[in-house]
Amino acid sequence: MTTKPAASETGDPLLLTPGPLTTSASVKQAMVHDWGSRDQGFIAINKMVLEKIVELAGAQGTHVTVPVQGSGTFAVEAMITSFVPKSGKLLVVINGAYGQRAKKIAEIAGRAVATYETPEDTPPDLARLEKMLVDDKAITHVFAVHCETTSGILNPIAGIAALVKKQGRRLLVDSMSAFGAIEIDARNVYYDALAASSNKCLEGVPGLGFVVCRNSALADCKGNATTLVLDLFDQAEGFAKTGQYRFTPPIHVIVALGKAIEEHAEEGGVAGRGKRYRENAKVLIDGMRAMGFQTLLPNDLQAPIIVTFHMPTDPKFVFQNFYDGLKDRGYVIYPGKLTVADSFRMGCIGRLYPDHMRGALAAVREVLDEMRVTNGGPALAAE
Ligand SMILES: *Cc1c(COP(=O)(O)O)cnc(C)c1O
Repeated sequence: MTTKPAASETGDPLLLTPGPLTTSASVKQAMVHDWGSRDQGFIAINKMVLEKIVELAGAQGTHVTVPVQGSGTFAVEAMITSFVPKSGKLLVVINGAYGQRAKKIAEIAGRAVATYETPEDTPPDLARLEKMLVDDKAITHVFAVHCETTSGILNPIAGIAALVKKQGRRLLVDSMSAFGAIEIDARNVYYDALAASSNKCLEGVPGLGFVVCRNSALADCKGNATTLVLDLFDQAEGFAKTGQYRFTPPIHVIVALGKAIEEHAEEGGVAGRGKRYRENAKVLIDGMRAMGFQTLLPNDLQAPIIVTFHMPTDPKFVFQNFYDGLKDRGYVIYPGKLTVADSFRMGCIGRLYPDHMRGALAAVREVLDEMRVTNGGPALAAE
């Protein structure tokens, strides 16, 4: 290897992962100050951040953003345990690890749970889902994942929302890996709550989850929560009264998110961000297929967020060497997490541009050559 490794604006390896992600130098630079949590300057920035998120969601006047200190899962757990009452029942739509995680959260919190599970490469069947709601009147809430990051599949969230509303139930959405890049507009997609975080498509740094909550539904959540820190009703009440967090907020993360949202707007908002990610995904998928690699998903199910590739079956291909060779060249990829197939993943999100994807493809080619692997396909021994 003779060429200089690829690097982010601050000289770090590029993260082709599901998060945390490569961020811009200016987002990181926003963090080199201190603020008091009761400082008017910080309170104003936080308020702006929460209002901008409601705007991005198309939810002005109907919803409020309630932030949760922690990673995205903290927001998902806060959403489920604050919105589903102890007497409620949650139907969890599962086709990957994040659906499984939601089920576990509900079970630990002692909520009644039903599941509708399909394989990781298969979206839920809407007629089947609707029938489950018709047949089980005890179900009060439905939980669905927008882009299931386990495989990269885009689930039919608008269709799910329409049938849940038609059946008079409440929808909770995990849009963690899609929000900010794939449109989900609350004026068209009816939900009570949607969880996402600072560090995925908004390109902030990790440390803040948030839930976009329907005002009328949140008002009914008093006393539902099974923990103090994840009580969205209480957290929202704190903001309404004082504009402040109940407990120490990740100040630097929130200020950086404010900068990241500014850059998101400069790029053209959800449409602009989504366009760049779709270009990244197209360059990556076309280039990998040209080397024989096969994607798990057909194009029509693939979200432009993260791409799952079947592991090549050439015995000369050793994943650890592949991973290390790419890392040496400045590209960090991600192992697979699938049960249906041996795989690895490459992400398209974060501060990455199509030229970065072309660089990653050249690095893949070099590492394959070093391993003397001529074809990245899984079909050699598989069939
Ligand atoms: C990243 C992600 C989460 C949250 O994961 P954390 O590691 O807790 O930030 C939840 N759901 C989906 C679909 C995700 O992609």
